[in-house]
Amino acid sequence: MALDPKRTVEELKELRALTGDENGAQRVAWTDTWLKAREWFAGKLAGLPVEHHYDAAGNNWVTLPGKSEKALLIGGHLDSVPNGGWLDGSLNVLAALEILRRIAVEFGGKPPVTVRVVDWADEEGARFGRSLLGSSAFAGTASIAADRVRTDRDGTKMEEALRRCGVEIDRFPEATREQKSAVAYIELHIEQGPVLERMNLPLATVLGTKGVERHAITFHGQEAHSGSTPMNARRDALAAAAKLALEIRTIARKHPDAVCTMGSVKTFPGIVTAVVGRCEATLDQRDLDHAVLGGMFREAREAMYGGVVAHLEHRADRVRCEAA
Ligand SMILES: [Zn+2]
Repeated sequence: MALDPKRTVEELKELRALTGDENGAQRVAWTDTWLKAREWFAGKLAGLPVEHHYDAAGNNWVTLPGKSEKALLIGGHLDSVPNGGWLDGSLNVLAALEILRRIAVEFGGKPPVTVRVVDWADEEGARFGRSLLGSSAFAGTASIAADRVRTDRDGTKMEEALRRCGVEIDRFPEATREQKSAVAYIELHIEQGPVLERMNLPLATVLGTKGVERHAITFHGQEAHSGSTPMNARRDALAAAAKLALEIRTIARKHPDAVCTMGSVKTFPGIVTAVVGRCEATLDQRDLDHAVLGGMFREAREAMYGGVVAHLEHRADRVRCEAA
């Protein structure tokens, strides 16, 4: 039996019709629409010689036992961000299902190794701002104390939202049991950038996962009247932030795969007639190489020290700058 990729595309369209609207996929984790997607997926398993269960963190496991207990894991996530794409995460899961079907037939229900499809719970973190929730529990890096009290926009606690879906956050550590016998993990994912398309390539393997330096930076200047304060008497917090925003472009371009982004800038008092006294910004830097990443953050800090910035204090992920 050959793989039937057309069936996968049809199923992706089915899922889109069931759990999306004109703005895109609406399968935000721990919502009814997400549960509906999972129920739909469970229905697709009928007739396959597989075992199906949800682990203590809500990860969704489908296991085709093989002659060896050693397991190949194929992963994805059915959850989406609000207005998400129709392929992100679900392509992985449904392609994995198609592979499972094919292997089950080819080996008469008993492949040489065990094959497991996993749909990670809350990979996106769209509702509570904590991505990789289920996969972290699996990896043994859950942050239960910090996560249980997170709230969504309506004030619902994460702990309560999970409980509604039958998941107890205190039992997260039990999800590490699923690591047993796992020897390899693969995942097919839609490319989230423009690189392959530009190269006219349909498929590629990833080189790794980029590490991230992510910081909230507050630039402190002095609020002043925009009409009566001469240019040489100003301490403009936005000017300091703007300087950094340009500087990080130069910093990133020194490395082939590095990226640096200032995605959010808020000014205070934020009115047309005042020099900006305080500016809150975010910095996000990424690279595959740990040393490159560390170097880029050092350079960004130096850029903050130099020029208009006189003082910088760095605590955890908070950076404080004084505009000179
Ligand atoms: Zn994804």
